[in-house]
Amino acid sequence: MTVRIGVIGTGAIGREHIERVTRRVSGARIGVVTDIDAASAEKAAAEAGGARIAADGAELIGSGDVDAVLVTSWGPSHAEHVLGAIAAGKPVFCEKPLATTAADCLAIMAAEEAFGRRLVQVGFMRRYDKGYGEMKRIIDAGGIGRPLMMHCAHRNRAVPPGYTTEMAAQDSGVHEIDAARWLLSEEIVSAQVVMPRSTSRRHPHLKDPQFILFETEGGVRIDLEVFVNCQYGYDIQCETVGEEGLLRLPDPAHVELRGSARVGTAIDQEWDDRFSAAFDTELQAWVDSVTAGTATGPTAWDGYAATAVAAATVEAQRTGGVVEVEMVERPAFYA
Ligand code: NAP
Repeated sequence: MTVRIGVIGTGAIGREHIERVTRRVSGARIGVVTDIDAASAEKAAAEAGGARIAADGAELIGSGDVDAVLVTSWGPSHAEHVLGAIAAGKPVFCEKPLATTAADCLAIMAAEEAFGRRLVQVGFMRRYDKGYGEMKRIIDAGGIGRPLMMHCAHRNRAVPPGYTTEMAAQDSGVHEIDAARWLLSEEIVSAQVVMPRSTSRRHPHLKDPQFILFETEGGVRIDLEVFVNCQYGYDIQCETVGEEGLLRLPDPAHVELRGSARVGTAIDQEWDDRFSAAFDTELQAWVDSVTAGTATGPTAWDGYAATAVAAATVEAQRTGGVVEVEMVERPAFYA
């Protein structure tokens, strides 16, 4: 069976996923695309080898020639499209965030539970990165004993003027929020944000860098530096300290250059270089799960938890205090 995918949103990551499905993922093809920008949809349809263009997300979801839906439009539109796909009984992969409000995430969870089986996978691709995967396996096997602390850094070379202080939590830090919950198998219960002096290389409205401090339900402390104008590259660091050892995420493999009395390796410049292989693995896993008829990967609950923690972090940016994360009990459906 070849899964016929409909793509809603043909911006930066939409186009990357179309290229991925067209060239590197097996068992699927792009059948239909849509975007509120008609020119972007036309370009994407051509790049997908002649996909059909639907007028909007609702038409795409209802189409008889779409087996599964890939949502890559901007965040505030995600809930509408994911709910539409669930109503149509179609598997849906939604780029993060699942929805921009906890209430919308809860509506998605309720709809999925009412449908009776999982249809939603959320795009937290770090779970498909080799280094993170190895870290998870070792923690779960007890290889460092009981985890106590995590030290994380999320650094981008630079961000466009539209990037806001809140996006450090909602768009950047949300990846570490999901990775930490997943690695530790624990929920995050509080957030605090400490602001060092800002870099002169930022846009004036932005507070950058930021230290975010999380605590999990079991008392693990996580510190996260988000620094989105660090100038030198895209640099993701993660260290988990346990009672009997320490795990550190490996830097991406690059050839070592020795010369001019120095030794060094290249640093990735953008997120799509750093996580390209993880995105490939993630989308292949999604297509395989659609073919098998059993959803896998990050769930709507994971999307909800990440949005709830990000909301508490934004509140903590505002107040400077420790903010408790407001979350409902985890439904048995997502056990
Ligand atoms: P982008 O370049 O702005 O693309 C979003 C596209 O969706 C734009 O073409 C936009 O059109 C279109 N769109 C917006 N609302 C729509 C609607 N209701 N129906 C159809 N199309 C609609 O943004 P992006 O960087 O690709 O990001 C898209 C999503 O992916 C975001 O949620 C982002 O957080 C996520 N993302 C995830 C990762 C990751 O690491 N997993 C990386 C990048 C992005 P207009 O431009 O005309 O509004």
